[in-house]
Amino acid sequence: MARCEVCGNDYDKAFTVRLSDGSEHVFDSFECAIHAVAPECDHCGCHIIGHGSEADGRIFCCANCAKHAGVSTLKDRE
Ligand SMILES: [Zn+2]
Ligand SMILES: [Zn+2]
Repeated sequence: MARCEVCGNDYDKAFTVRLSDGSEHVFDSFECAIHAVAPECDHCGCHIIGHGSEADGRIFCCANCAKHAGVSTLKDRE
């Protein structure tokens, strides 16, 4: 049993997410996990739950946002 670090729910099906920096976080739902650890688009601020697009050390939810932010090297797959 573990307690979700976002909402505090004590849930027997909680799971642990280990990030690339080695830190571990416990959540009761993907919604809480996304809220806590998903990166945010540098342009629109939405949580990135897909692969996202990285350019110039910044991350975007889609190539369109990258374009709006002045990054022209990214393209969405068509
Ligand atoms: Zn939660
Ligand atoms: Zn975006």
